[in-house]
Amino acid sequence: MQAHKPKIVYRYGEGLYVNLTNSCPTSCVFCIKNTWKMDYRGNDLNLAGLEPAPSEVVAAAKAEWAAAPFRELVFCGYGEPTMRLEALLTCARLVKSGRAAPIPPSLRVRLNTNGLANAVWGRNVVPEMKGLIDAVHVSLNTADPVQWLERMRPMEPWKDTGFEKVKEFIREAALLLPEAVATAVEDDTVDMAKFRKLVSDLGAEVRLRPRLETEERA
Ligand code: SF4
Repeated sequence: MQAHKPKIVYRYGEGLYVNLTNSCPTSCVFCIKNTWKMDYRGNDLNLAGLEPAPSEVVAAAKAEWAAAPFRELVFCGYGEPTMRLEALLTCARLVKSGRAAPIPPSLRVRLNTNGLANAVWGRNVVPEMKGLIDAVHVSLNTADPVQWLERMRPMEPWKDTGFEKVKEFIREAALLLPEAVATAVEDDTVDMAKFRKLVSDLGAEVRLRPRLETEERA
């Protein structure tokens, strides 16, 4: 029988993606991890409880770079990367300080997130990302707090305050980081005019993304 060998880094497009954790404070209706059985386009992302140390992530990224350089390092797996905030920042710090050579410190580092980090950690964590994270892409999906609850399905502790805390996270990221984007999965039931207005008021940019579960699995 073949040993279970999850990917801690995997390639997609021109980026190298980091699968830091399977832990997540939400259970989004559009999440594909269950329908795709923890596989993402041929990569097994089921860490089975064995979350990688930053040194392992950087070693894996260096090996990938040696095989073929990539244009950005993206923290985005089947889980919410900020659930391991310290590990995430340590990985980014190793890259940005030049201690992940031959990966250049100028490499763009992006975080894909549900934006709940301030709620989960009980403090504003965005200043800790300054100089380490170049871009945050926050899966906000709607301007309507009721619809946010229906679509993101946060765990109990973050049901009441989650939406406001995600907005706070985006506002802070737009102030402190080079790039802050709020994303929405394409959906006819979402009032996109209101979504665009909210994101603009928060100082961020909008990006719409397709619903992956309608895609064929690669
Ligand atoms: S935040 Fe990401 S990993 Fe978590 S449930 Fe939503 S889509 Fe899935």
